Amino acid sequence: MGMYWKRTQTQNRFIKTKKLVLLLPLVCLLGCYAGSVKPLLSRPEFKAENEPIRNLRILLITENSYRKDEIEQFVSKCSRLVEMQVGIRLEILDWYQITWEDELDDIIKMEIRIAGDTWSKRDKFDIALAFVHFVHSVEGGKLPLGATDTFFWRYIFVRELDPYILLHELFHAFLLHRGHSKEWVMRGGRPAYGNEWYWLTPEDRKGVLRNKWRDFNAMPATEQEEERKSKESWFYYKVGSAYLQKREFDQAILLLNKSLEINPKYGAAYETRGIIYSSREQYDQAIADFNKAVEIDPRLGEAYISRGKAYYFKGEYDKSWEDVKKAQNLGFQVSPKFLDDLRKASWRQN
Ligand SMILES: [Zn+2]
Repeated sequence: MGMYWKRTQTQNRFIKTKKLVLLLPLVCLLGCYAGSVKPLLSRPEFKAENEPIRNLRILLITENSYRKDEIEQFVSKCSRLVEMQVGIRLEILDWYQITWEDELDDIIKMEIRIAGDTWSKRDKFDIALAFVHFVHSVEGGKLPLGATDTFFWRYIFVRELDPYILLHELFHAFLLHRGHSKEWVMRGGRPAYGNEWYWLTPEDRKGVLRNKWRDFNAMPATEQEEERKSKESWFYYKVGSAYLQKREFDQAILLLNKSLEINPKYGAAYETRGIIYSSREQYDQAIADFNKAVEIDPRLGEAYISRGKAYYFKGEYDKSWEDVKKAQNLGFQVSPKFLDDLRKASWRQN
């Protein structure tokens, strides 16, 4: 998360340090990789710790910002750098071509879009790598170069074909925290010049090795189990809602079930599932879900409206009127069209 590139500052720094850059090759010979694992790579015990190799199944996502062969070359270069350090090999499994809709200004929306689009393949890949020119407005005019989700730590966004960016985000997926190191690949911002900053510190490497075999379909455990549950439940709710918008009701229900399994007190998830049952004309199931929704959160005005409609379709007009009034008392607008239909059917004015 949060690799930033402040353009003007960097340019200034670049001018100031031009002379220094000329000296760097000499300095590097004198051991400028100190503090990183680079000087340790050829040691037999280091190599032994990296065994056995994990083949990480990668789903590549492109929007045509880069050519496929450029991306392939880049990924295989990164794969070598990762394998040398921790014994993880990036194995390209498949490609997915994405055309964004309105997600590009919001990294969370992008994550949910990718998760939704790749849901049916989720058991077949470990990490989805998206090579996209995302726009992400953050405070202070900073422009992130890469990003990863903090739910499953498996959806990675890369703006530039710089190994530092991919490696940084990829190692986050194994370190499972937002924290950064002072130096090397897990530092918080790309250095403007100098070394290849592709190397872990020995300590970060230990952290990566600890989680080397993690299951990417499971949200990693945290100290705050409640927080994890609410994040996970929210995530499934969001992806489920995305399926509802696509009118893929079966998938949407599966995801909402999953969301409710994790958090049975999630009013909005019941409400959304009720809407799906309603569109399938399963009104009793819909009403049961809307009941749950307003029981958990009595201020869900939309749930009253939806329940009122379900009662209407069942011909239970008095109950329908009750719900209309509850929603109106909460300040929610009921569509004039529906009110009109209800008046005609019920022979009541209000
Ligand atoms: Zn980061």
